[in-house]
Amino acid sequence: MKGAVLYGPRDVRFEQRGTPKIVEPTDAIVRTSATCVCGSDLWPYRGLNPINGPTPMGHEYCGIVEEVGNAVSTIKPGQFVIGSFFASDNTCPHCRAGYQTSCQHREFVNTAQAPLLRVPLADGTLVATPEVPSAELIPSFLAVSDVMGTGWFAAVAANVKPGAAVAVVGDGAVGLLGVLSAKQMGAGRIIAMSRHAPRQKLAREFGATDILTERGDEAVARIKDLTKGVGADSVLECVGTQESMMQAIGSTRPGGFVGHVGVPHGVELDGEKLFYAHVHLHGGPAPVRRFLPELIDLVWKGKINPGKVFDLTLPLDQVVEGYRAMGDRRAIKTLLRP
Ligand SMILES: [Zn+2]
Ligand SMILES: [Zn+2]
Repeated sequence: MKGAVLYGPRDVRFEQRGTPKIVEPTDAIVRTSATCVCGSDLWPYRGLNPINGPTPMGHEYCGIVEEVGNAVSTIKPGQFVIGSFFASDNTCPHCRAGYQTSCQHREFVNTAQAPLLRVPLADGTLVATPEVPSAELIPSFLAVSDVMGTGWFAAVAANVKPGAAVAVVGDGAVGLLGVLSAKQMGAGRIIAMSRHAPRQKLAREFGATDILTERGDEAVARIKDLTKGVGADSVLECVGTQESMMQAIGSTRPGGFVGHVGVPHGVELDGEKLFYAHVHLHGGPAPVRRFLPELIDLVWKGKINPGKVFDLTLPLDQVVEGYRAMGDRRAIKTLLRP
């Protein structure tokens, strides 16, 4: 079996990897129908996160269960399943509270850019669709595995309510799906931040009412203008830089909510600024598993189409080009077909 392996900055290779096998009785082996490159894969790809030697890649997946361990009871071979980037038992106190990405037994799933994948804690991690879906639904189910679930969590953490004024910082796949999530939750106004025409267009399609090209303090001022000097009720922070985080906090009205899902890179918060900002701050690695049943249902019924974020589809053996296209910002997100 061949899969993607990252060797160093801009050096990803499609090469021979061991065929995954059942290791624990709670494992499942999934034949991936589709997988993809994530914005977070670009941090080590660009050399901004160090890696320790050759690293198999991929944490977004959906596909058909090939085999299960003998302790797996609810997931069965032949089912079409979706899982998230952290395997979770879905029974420990953190899972029961809805924070499966902090599961006491969590395991990172990071070998998905391959035709076959081992998923630990299969009963807790995987959710099956009612039947095997048609091919056109697969990109949307794949999006649910991470970016859709993460955008949704950003909106939940930002307490988006019907009629709310929402701002979304970040025009990557997660930010765009944060727009879709806010729309689905009934936001009255959705202000998206983007300087890229194809992303602006998709943001509009997903429900953005206003597009801003400003950044930092200028963006904060524009959002204040658009909200009669008040600030946004809910701000989704989907980038993870110092500037984007301060922009998110600065754009939020006193008493408002910031949902932050951008993995922080060098973000440091000033305690005094935070104190006087009077905002609720909640976020972290999205507990996508919490939202899988609801999001799968919305996709199954055709109510949302998050698969539109994939603007490049390649065969898995061209994964190298998939990384390049995203690294150069030629593509929003690359879908890979094994
Ligand atoms: Zn991801
Ligand atoms: Zn757990």
